[in-house]
Amino acid sequence: MTSGSPALAADLRVDVPAEGYHRELIACQVACPVHTDARGYVRAIAEGRFEEAYLIARGPNPFASICGRICGAPCEAACRRGRIPRVDDDGRFVATDRPIAIRALKRFVCDRFGPEARPPADVLDEVADFVPPVAGGPEEIAALVRTSCDGRLRPADGQRIAIIGSGPAGLSAAHDLALLGFKPVVFEREPVAAGMLAVGIPAYRLPRALIAREVAVIEAMGVEIRCGVTIGTDVTFADLRRDFAAVIIAVGAKGSRALGIPGESGPGVFGGVDLLRAVALGEPPAIGRDIVVIGGGNVAFDVARTVVRQVALDTARTAARLAATSRVRLVSLEGLEEMPADTIEIVEGDEEGIERLNGWGPVAIERDDRGQVIGVTVRRCRRVYDEQRRFAPIFDDQDRQTIPCDTVLLAVGQVPVTGFLEHGGTDVEMLRPGWPKVATTTLATTAPGVFVAGDLAHGTRLAIDAVASGKAAARSVYTYLTGRPLELSSMTTHLPLPGYRRELGYESIRRQAVPVREPGERLDHPEVEVERGYDEATAMREASRCLDCGVTPVFDGTRCVLCGGCADVCPTECLTLVSLARLTPMPDLEPVIGATLGDLPDRASHSAIVKDEDRCIRCALCVARCPVDAVGMERVMFSSRWVSP
Ligand SMILES: Cc1cc2nc3c(=O)[nH]c(=O)nc-3n(C[C@H](O)[C@H](O)[C@H](O)COP(=O)(O)OP(=O)(O)OC[C@H]3O[C@@H](n4cnc5c(N)ncnc54)[C@H](O)[C@@H]3O)c2cc1C
Repeated sequence: MTSGSPALAADLRVDVPAEGYHRELIACQVACPVHTDARGYVRAIAEGRFEEAYLIARGPNPFASICGRICGAPCEAACRRGRIPRVDDDGRFVATDRPIAIRALKRFVCDRFGPEARPPADVLDEVADFVPPVAGGPEEIAALVRTSCDGRLRPADGQRIAIIGSGPAGLSAAHDLALLGFKPVVFEREPVAAGMLAVGIPAYRLPRALIAREVAVIEAMGVEIRCGVTIGTDVTFADLRRDFAAVIIAVGAKGSRALGIPGESGPGVFGGVDLLRAVALGEPPAIGRDIVVIGGGNVAFDVARTVVRQVALDTARTAARLAATSRVRLVSLEGLEEMPADTIEIVEGDEEGIERLNGWGPVAIERDDRGQVIGVTVRRCRRVYDEQRRFAPIFDDQDRQTIPCDTVLLAVGQVPVTGFLEHGGTDVEMLRPGWPKVATTTLATTAPGVFVAGDLAHGTRLAIDAVASGKAAARSVYTYLTGRPLELSSMTTHLPLPGYRRELGYESIRRQAVPVREPGERLDHPEVEVERGYDEATAMREASRCLDCGVTPVFDGTRCVLCGGCADVCPTECLTLVSLARLTPMPDLEPVIGATLGDLPDRASHSAIVKDEDRCIRCALCVARCPVDAVGMERVMFSSRWVSP
């Protein structure tokens, strides 16, 4: 039995592990939108099985290498190591531990075995379980679909599918459509493929050569990408519906959201994503020397840090001298603690000379008689979120200031541009302007044969959400065109682990910092990657911190003599021996107790071992201590594949 807290309250509520319970404990895998077995590759790295680790990471994710650089890593947010209390030598609580650096570990194996290290054909050969060999014909693809999906899955008949947008959603859809036996054609308005990965995320976080290589693997599967073609201008939406069996719209949210404040329209004010795009394509606009970026999220930092690099490049100055002639200030509604940006962005932004003004909301952009920007008037924001964590800012209008500047960059959200639907897509019902109405599971629109994926389907999120969404859209197209449903078939395996042991001292290893370049070097070379990545020894050390949540102690109640030795030896006090009388009666608890004790009147004199899953570090000391072999370690693994029933 498991409890959320070890506290011995009079009414102790416990969960009885039911079907799927242990699988849910593998929080990193559950949290990943494509269910990458992060635990699996992290443990493989810890044991030096690097190539296997790469294959595990690549399996469900055509953008594994890119994710190794920039993934928002929901797996790390869920990692249980981040909730384990750290105690000092006297057993006093110091802080909670930090999650495993899963993203950096993914990069470590991708650097060795991904397309950044080898030509596309070699990568395809290697991951043949997941993708077909280079531009295979229908038979080869059919054979691979059989191995990669399921023997019963019949490939499609090679119909052509149009995909608008080559971002992670569009290309993931294309990748899976190729696997499923279609011929996907991707239309991209920009001169380069990969969407916001290529024209949003700055090169100092994601090298352009790496993007090109990962995209080349997808092209090598037979996916055709036509760059420089704008749907709505060069080709109409009606043309696509006429010439293709189905259409997936994956155009993302390319427009910068406006603030709706006076002075916003006119020279000197730019959308943040527009600026990033221009810099990425080598056409940076002329910006001033005194710049205010409005926004407090990761995009705002991408914008501010890119501008710092532009200014440094123009003036050939280092961070230390930047402030003398130029300023980049970032104004956010939120206080430092509440800023939505990742801590690493804030830290590295500070290092690069960005000045933060936290807790201010813009009121107006001031202009002189000639219409040039001369400042931004802001007012104090006293609170951003209400008690339910809803966005409900409260301002203090008495506390205002005007920040002098000559350029304002807006990074307060993005909106989609879907005007092309006017010609041939009027049957695509809209939820609100720009956003189509989408069926949650199938991603179908109200128009037959038209599907949506990525940011346009679910609002702006992470790249890995777009990948998952693209894959889901591909499955829906398969069902739509073949009439055969695809179902997710999951398999959970339980494997006893006799003699299970962990690395010595793994529980006290601190998270290994990812080495980064010095601020001066970053600004001297704007395109140089800030993160250097782990070396082998550091990667293995970091990976060895993984608690391996797939492994769990299992207790055999028929052998247990209730000596309490397992609870005594537990270093995190995750096990507690309690009287049955203290357990809150729950519908799923009674059958378990009844099966063991029947209707015995003296239940109160019987005991149960209660386990706090959040604290268990899978050290197996309970197993070693048990005098009657009532505790053993077991590995739980789950995998899923799509089958056509
Ligand atoms: C600055 C920035 C930084 C980010 N950083 C991260 C990060 O670090 N980690 C992370 O996980 N996520 C990050 N994201 C989010 C992530 O990039 C997006 O969620 C993801 O790219 C969305 O994928 P998508 O395929 O839906 O759309 P997009 O990537 O936007 O791709 C859509 C594509 O459609 C094309 N297109 C649009 N209209 C047309 C048309 N009419 N005809 C032809 N083509 C068209 C566009 O040019 C674009 O290439 C960031 C986003 C931004 C803006």
